Amino acid sequence: MKTVLIVEDERDLRELVCHHFRKEGFKPIAVPDAETAYAEVQHRVPDAIVLDLMLPGMQGTELCRILRSAERTAKVPILMVTAKDEEIDKLLGFELGADDYMTKPFSLRELVARLRAVLRRSSDTHSPTQIPPYVSEALFINFHSYEVRVRGEEVSMSLIEFRLLKHFVSHPEIVYSRDQLLDAVWGRDTSVMPRTVDVHIQKLRALVEEDPKNPRMILTVRGAGYKFQPNSAR
Ligand code: CA
Repeated sequence: MKTVLIVEDERDLRELVCHHFRKEGFKPIAVPDAETAYAEVQHRVPDAIVLDLMLPGMQGTELCRILRSAERTAKVPILMVTAKDEEIDKLLGFELGADDYMTKPFSLRELVARLRAVLRRSSDTHSPTQIPPYVSEALFINFHSYEVRVRGEEVSMSLIEFRLLKHFVSHPEIVYSRDQLLDAVWGRDTSVMPRTVDVHIQKLRALVEEDPKNPRMILTVRGAGYKFQPNSAR
């Protein structure tokens, strides 16, 4: 049974979410604030976290950042929940390393579906079958340890960026539209907006390109999407 840590300060919502996850075969652990969530995670690492952004005391964004920077919790899938008018914070959630986000009010059915999707994606990435590392002049990627080196320097990136990079290097020179990238990287049942892809492409370029303004690896194909150009990866 998968454990899901639910961090939500609104009691009614917390209980409702908890009840629904239990009904869907999960083992929910509900906490009202980020401090308690942090203590709980130190005690045992859950399979996934549903994290409210606005919390009393430590904010959800701060907890997300802390969990991402600690080795034992760096890869725990985090689904961030934001209030309706927090558009900017949505993107911030991704920058801080959340795997997906949902806007309140949300349907419980969709919440569970989205959580299943992030769990599936994280287990895909943790697949035990040995995939050899990707090695080019500029890039070294170990798909199992998540180690990414760019021109010899180790870089850290969120799970979404890692999955995006993995998709590109596994499918060189093929043009992918935003929708195709959403399907491949975020999962088919996502309701993430296609423009989110652009945000993550920019972030990935900032990490891997020598000059992100003049990318040579992750290229824009005007009117079509993006493609990975391995031979230009210097
Ligand atoms: Ca809240």
